[in-house]
Amino acid sequence: MARLDHEHVWHPFTQMRDWLRREPIVIERGRGAVLADVHGREYLDANASIWTNLHGHNHPKINAAIRSQLGKIAHSSALGFANAPASVLAGKLVGLANPRLPRAPFRQPGLNKVFFSDDGSTALEAAMKLSYEFARRTGRSERPRFLSLEGAYHGDTVGAVSAGHIDLFHRAYSQLLFKTDKVMAPYCYRCPFNKAKPERLDARNCRRCNWECVDQVEKQFEKRAKTKRPITAMIVEPRVQGAAGVIPQPEGWLKRVVEIVRGQGAQWIADEVMTGFGRTGGALSRRKDAAPALFASHAEGVQPDYLCVAKGLTGGYTPMAATLTSREVFDVFLGDYSEFKTFFHGHSFTGNQIGAAAANASLEILGSAASIDARRRLEARFAKELESLWELECVGDVRRIGLIAGVELVKDWRTKEPFALGEKAGIRVCEGMAKRGVLTRPIGNVVLLMPPYCMTARQTVKMVSALRESIEEIFGGARQFCKLDWRQKGKMLIFGRVNEDN
Ligand code: PMP
Repeated sequence: MARLDHEHVWHPFTQMRDWLRREPIVIERGRGAVLADVHGREYLDANASIWTNLHGHNHPKINAAIRSQLGKIAHSSALGFANAPASVLAGKLVGLANPRLPRAPFRQPGLNKVFFSDDGSTALEAAMKLSYEFARRTGRSERPRFLSLEGAYHGDTVGAVSAGHIDLFHRAYSQLLFKTDKVMAPYCYRCPFNKAKPERLDARNCRRCNWECVDQVEKQFEKRAKTKRPITAMIVEPRVQGAAGVIPQPEGWLKRVVEIVRGQGAQWIADEVMTGFGRTGGALSRRKDAAPALFASHAEGVQPDYLCVAKGLTGGYTPMAATLTSREVFDVFLGDYSEFKTFFHGHSFTGNQIGAAAANASLEILGSAASIDARRRLEARFAKELESLWELECVGDVRRIGLIAGVELVKDWRTKEPFALGEKAGIRVCEGMAKRGVLTRPIGNVVLLMPPYCMTARQTVKMVSALRESIEEIFGGARQFCKLDWRQKGKMLIFGRVNEDN
């Protein structure tokens, strides 16, 4: 298998020269949070198979739903025909995407139309085209323009790349893309406006600033409003940017930004490809008994004009995506055939039955009391285990939101000096974790952990221990002993050195 792979397979986002130098791990099976390779070696799936898997591998309910659907039909086209699993799924998604949110001083659309596609990139591509046409047809702008965040990643198709701002990935295609605007992301750990000194705490919780990042968004809108190309839509990953390096937004940032977007009469596109389906935790309101938020936007009390989901939609079993939008947008595409107002966009596998059957089963599991309870317990355990990483000299930031964590490696936490990308700090740490039976991928110097919701307490301990041991092995065992004094309102820290053997 490894030989065939080496001969013929070109892997995504992979330097193939490095790949061809070593024998690949060939995954053969999976159960729960565990993957097994062709040699029978077992690994924890610590990034949920690139952020897709929700309830674990080989889940009996999802398997049964797929089998049952296979007994009927695997696929028929949505171009010209309807099918039951996709219709049921659309109804379920609309139900979940319109919870009662706390009152907001701006318009919050209802999302009752679902456009299916195949993956995260196409979900974004559809949202961007819809929004573009909406702005033109409603007379808001002849040449609509998008705004997105620094470090944004929204997929690899040309539209999605145009809204992306990761230089390393996107620079090569600059002549191929259309222009979009970017604005600073609320990256508290490295924010030029954050006057707080480095601490052994998540930078969001000890930041000293005046929300200058929000002012920047407002300024960008105002600047463009004076031109012939006002910003007609902003694209945001709500609560946390994933591929940018796991950059969680301080609470309240999104609501403030949405208020600006609404005030400018623009739309906003929520890229919940990574954050959807409970990944960021949170609740629908501040009440103690509030239901868990399934979408990150709702945990911040805001509703987008386009909600893009993929990855976890099918529980991570098959590729499928959806772009939800409002009747207001839908209506702009209605007309007589000869008016050619049709949304001219679609894919062969749109609304695929196998994917929809898996998604329907996954959503049922997600809403069950057992899953809600498991997510709550996992989040508490995950948070507790991550605390121990603050002891390490070269851990600059540990930023967790719900069941997603990014651990930023630096040369020294006091100076925040980054490793040069060529030093492969993240890659080396992940290789060390693989040796210890834990699989994940870094984003530059950030090691990402994203456990499937079924991960047990013991597996969570193993996952974080593998990360800690790997960092210690590669960068030396020097530790800081940090004692948090929570009685002090300022969350002051007291440091003392301890012997490595302690
Ligand atoms: N948006 C976000 C936020 C993502 O994380 C990704 C994939 N990592 C995408 C879009 C693109 O999704 P896909 O790879 O399924 O096309």
